[in-house]
Amino acid sequence: MSVSGSGSGSVHVALLPSAGMGHLTPFLRLASLLVQHHCQVTLISPEPTVSFAESELISRFLSAFPEVNQIQFHLLPFDANTANSTDPFWLQFEAVRRSAHLLSSIIPSLSPPLSALITDVTLISSVIPVTESLCLPNYILFTSSAKLFSLFSFFPTASSSASLDAEILEIPGISPIPKSSIPPLLLVPKSLFANIFMECSAKLTKLHGVFINTFEGLEVQTLEALNGGKVIEGLPSIFSVGPFMPCEFEKRDQLGATLKWLDHQPAESVVYVSFGSRTAMTRNQIREIGHGLLRSGCKFLWVVKDKIVDKDEEEELDQVVGHEIMKRIKKQGMVVKTWVDQGEILGHKAVGGFVSHCGWNSVTEAAYHGVRILAWPLHGDQKINAEVVVMSGLGMWVKSWGWGGEIVVKGEEIGEAVKEMMGNESLKTKAAEVKEAARKAIDVGGSCEVAFRGLINEWKSNN
Ligand code: UDP
Ligand code: UDP
Ligand code: UDP
Repeated sequence: MSVSGSGSGSVHVALLPSAGMGHLTPFLRLASLLVQHHCQVTLISPEPTVSFAESELISRFLSAFPEVNQIQFHLLPFDANTANSTDPFWLQFEAVRRSAHLLSSIIPSLSPPLSALITDVTLISSVIPVTESLCLPNYILFTSSAKLFSLFSFFPTASSSASLDAEILEIPGISPIPKSSIPPLLLVPKSLFANIFMECSAKLTKLHGVFINTFEGLEVQTLEALNGGKVIEGLPSIFSVGPFMPCEFEKRDQLGATLKWLDHQPAESVVYVSFGSRTAMTRNQIREIGHGLLRSGCKFLWVVKDKIVDKDEEEELDQVVGHEIMKRIKKQGMVVKTWVDQGEILGHKAVGGFVSHCGWNSVTEAAYHGVRILAWPLHGDQKINAEVVVMSGLGMWVKSWGWGGEIVVKGEEIGEAVKEMMGNESLKTKAAEVKEAARKAIDVGGSCEVAFRGLINEWKSNN
């Protein structure tokens, strides 16, 4: 994006992300946009991180932006047994929440004084008391879709009216959400996820604003409903500042094997298969995917992951995928079990389609590059994001595959669906339209620039 209108450098913004690459990556992309807009930026980074991928990304970000100040936020130890979750990322969310009061001594020590603090959605209820006592404007960067944000905003109303028990959840102004698409843990009373959602949503109106990595070409109806006060009244301003583009500092493997392999494939012939940074598949399902990709007859680049946290990955690719399939696969595709530069891959001319779990960053990256999606949502917010994918025309979704782990989806079905997605001309046209809208949103005068200009002027005038 090109940036105009320089500032005096007097605007100082701190960012506090939560755990996992799906949160850290968009926070660092937002940080780099703020730097481009001449803001001084402080990154408050919770330590230690859950995954290697996070600590590596932070190092690369800080090397690329030496002007950014880092505060290592050392989390207080806490007894994981006292939180209702076994997910390592959610336990870290809770650890950050329980340490948030420490910010009341960290923030006043920052110089020049902060104009704003931008935190993760899961921190709202624990950070608001601090920012209120310091009279500091508090914003969040919501790292999922505007559609999930509308569910988040409406959640206390839905819970108190028992609307969550119905087969279809009606949220004013937006398309109905089937119960089967609601993140399963939201429907489990007292789960850590439901508790955090409820507590933070209740404090939403105390925020100064909400950044969402989205744009009208993806979620026009939802954004209009949110901004028009239809979902709930009294919401803070919503700034749609997406789609965030992958940044230079994220690249790990510029001349790597995956990109070299793609260089040798015909244009738009390859399907890229990845389920994000924290979604492990069972070994049976992995093997069915291998069979499915072979049956599809398409070229493919497949990232295999069988552990939630990268620190636990031990087995070799051959062991996970199976020796026999691996031998056959090599003729038709490339399979890796390492971190790949997804931004580069989705932008490569050889890539025509994406089998994705619909983590929101993956969806917006595909939108930015106009790559059509076969949605295979597995956990949490991913079915809600898959609905956005289908409604915007960016992709298709085989709903009968259910949540991750509910059934083992057979290779035959996977192969058919991949073939259909890759061969579907209308999806291809629609994905190209979404890409055009994405580029417009981040171009000069687009929604992203308008939002930043307005905010930075406001912050300056408050100084
Ligand atoms: N990602 C990547 N390489 C990988 C796996 C993931 O670059 O091998 C990036 C991907 O581009 C995205 C983020 O990690 O920016 C994953 O976020 P997403 O919201 O898609 O899913 P999550 O990992 O949170 O489930
Ligand atoms: N999980 C995951 N990636 C995610 C979200 C969840 O790998 O983005 C894992 C998480 O570690 C948890 C499991 O999936 O152990 C179940 O999550 P889910 O949301 O499906 O909850 P459930 O089906 O148990 O209600
Ligand atoms: N989640 C879940 N079960 C778990 C852990 C996480 O359902 O055990 C889901 C939760 O439903 C939420 C999603 O993880 O919707 C996380 O969404 P978010 O964008 O906040 O985080 P990410 O998956 O990108 O790390």
